[in-house]
Amino acid sequence: VEIPHDRLTVITGVSGSGKSSLAFDTLFAEGQWRYIESLSTYARMFLERIDRPDVDRIEQIRPAVALEQKNPVRTARSTVGTATEIYDYLRLLYAKVGRVHCAACGAPAASHHSATTIADALLGEHPGARALVTFPLPVPTGVPPAEVWAALTRRGFARVRLDGEVVDLTTPPPATLRAPELDVVLDRVVLAADGRARLVDSLETALREGGGRVAVDVVGATRRAFTEEFRCGACGAALERPQPLLFSFNHPLGACAECKGFGNVLKYDESLVVPDRALSLGAGAIEPWTHPSGKWYQRELVRAARRSGVDLNVPWERLGERERRLVYDGDGKFPGINGFFEEIESYRYKLHVRVFLSRYRTQSPCPVCAGARLKPAALAVKVAGLTIAEFTGLTIERAAATVESLSLTAWEAAVGREILRQLAAKLTFLLRVGLGYLTLGRQTRSLSGGEAQRINLANQLGSQLVGTLYVLDEPSIGLHSRDTARLADLCRELATAGNTVVVVEHDRAFIEAADHVIELGPGSGERGGEVVFSGSQDEFRKTTRSLTARYLTGRESIPAPLSRRPGRRQLVLTGAREHNLKDLTLRLPLGTLTVVTGVSGSGKSTLVHDTLYRAVARAFKTEFQTPGAYTAVTGIEYLKGVRLIDQEPIGRTPRSNPVTYVKAFDEVRKLYAALPRAKALGLGAGAFSFNVPGGRCESCQGDGF
Ligand SMILES: [Zn+2]
Ligand SMILES: [Zn+2]
Ligand SMILES: [Zn+2]
Repeated sequence: VEIPHDRLTVITGVSGSGKSSLAFDTLFAEGQWRYIESLSTYARMFLERIDRPDVDRIEQIRPAVALEQKNPVRTARSTVGTATEIYDYLRLLYAKVGRVHCAACGAPAASHHSATTIADALLGEHPGARALVTFPLPVPTGVPPAEVWAALTRRGFARVRLDGEVVDLTTPPPATLRAPELDVVLDRVVLAADGRARLVDSLETALREGGGRVAVDVVGATRRAFTEEFRCGACGAALERPQPLLFSFNHPLGACAECKGFGNVLKYDESLVVPDRALSLGAGAIEPWTHPSGKWYQRELVRAARRSGVDLNVPWERLGERERRLVYDGDGKFPGINGFFEEIESYRYKLHVRVFLSRYRTQSPCPVCAGARLKPAALAVKVAGLTIAEFTGLTIERAAATVESLSLTAWEAAVGREILRQLAAKLTFLLRVGLGYLTLGRQTRSLSGGEAQRINLANQLGSQLVGTLYVLDEPSIGLHSRDTARLADLCRELATAGNTVVVVEHDRAFIEAADHVIELGPGSGERGGEVVFSGSQDEFRKTTRSLTARYLTGRESIPAPLSRRPGRRQLVLTGAREHNLKDLTLRLPLGTLTVVTGVSGSGKSTLVHDTLYRAVARAFKTEFQTPGAYTAVTGIEYLKGVRLIDQEPIGRTPRSNPVTYVKAFDEVRKLYAALPRAKALGLGAGAFSFNVPGGRCESCQGDGF
């Protein structure tokens, strides 16, 4: 098969026809394998070993990047902002141009030692003296002195002070720069009243270049160093211009001390401790005490209830405040739920205890930072009137608009220019992949596989690589057709920029956007694995060999149903208002197929999964996760149950396979055990199970390898 470079190629075909085997297991694997082979033996030690794909020859393959429908992130510390490096630029922005406020009283900072106060001090103390205005510049490590000289010359500086000597930048630099800092000479001035304006000007520039520090060499006197200082305009507390690390919730310097930068603390949650509020104390309302380890507590609870006259047969939801307090706080002899958890927590060093405890706790916002993750000093710095935590609470769309319309002073604009340019570019890429609805603070691990893939795509667009092979896995999954068309455009753009883009896709808009189409088939599994068609878009539309083309061009079609069932009864959800839902009412006709659609981020999952499903599942006591906010669900009485079929993988153990998952293997085993030969040998059903001793191969314990 031939795949054109610098073009968008779509690989399509029925499920199981071998699309991924070709795109990922062969093309991408070979691209990666060759890249790794090109590295030194030493570097290869740190990389996963990759087997070369089963292929005779691949010519002119490019270094490959795979963008899969997977979200590998599990840590709570990664957010959309950090994963896209937008947060890094925000930290720089806040450190450079953020307006500092007093962490104690909230008043804005006022400059204490400013260019004017320094100028007046110098004019007063050294009237008529000549002086050099300089600013300190840290010597960059690993950069040859000649390059430092060249960089300074390019920026218009002519002299530096080195080891007490003023050195002209036109003379060759020393072989090494030992001092940690250079003083760069900015101006030569006479400290006289009529030169005050120029002096203030130079001092301002020096303070800016020197990050708030300036040194003035007074000829015939001393070297005077000044530091720009902030003080609170109201209470006079000393304030500092922050450094970027102060805004990092992943660093001790910036992280809120209470929650260690997580923004959440774990608290015991009554809905987990008492999952079924219809149960009475006697019937096991307190879930942790229905386990063997809680037996003693349950017995003590019963005794305490008798002592205090609490009815053991009343459902939890009808117990009064006094009764519940007894259950929580105990009565001296009986330790209560709080005493129980305290006792258990003293065994926290054991893993199974931590697992047990985690079942009864949920996250709630940190009481100190209220979820902002940062120290008060970091939250006292504002850009556009927002703290960095408030900024990351904006959606990407709002953040882009805010960056666009920032009102900055000339100096702020100068130091922030490059940061703002990068920020705007990154936000634009995210908007273009259709993720404008995500907030920058959203945890990466909570993103769907498709959203994670699009974030990766936005990062790739931002990196502006050329000559790369991009392999994408069904990027249209979970996207509204409006967003799919946009995404197809972006893939074409990547190709036009000089990359080879290969997309495994079923979506019509994507197939039609492709320069080149490959269809695998004709069937799935054993009956697939052949190239049914490979050619340009024009050829594809004319071919009779491709099943996909026959449908796309309307030569074949799937007729819409002639009649639709109206459904007699309804399941009605009222007052749904979680996240962005606007207090809405959902009426689902029962006994019919209903589709909920809408653009990405419009609230489909929040409505159907988070609210409706959880509310109904809770009513059937099959799941107890807290549903999204709603007022009522009616019509549950017409249902027998609720099932969630989502995209989560169903089994992660090598022992699970489709046949065991649907429990069909039990019947298969019985069938084998019923054979005359099996009976003669005395083999029961267990002898045909690879999961139990007696059936499984003991050498591999039934793993097969
Ligand atoms: Zn103050
Ligand atoms: Zn906190
Ligand atoms: Zn074996």
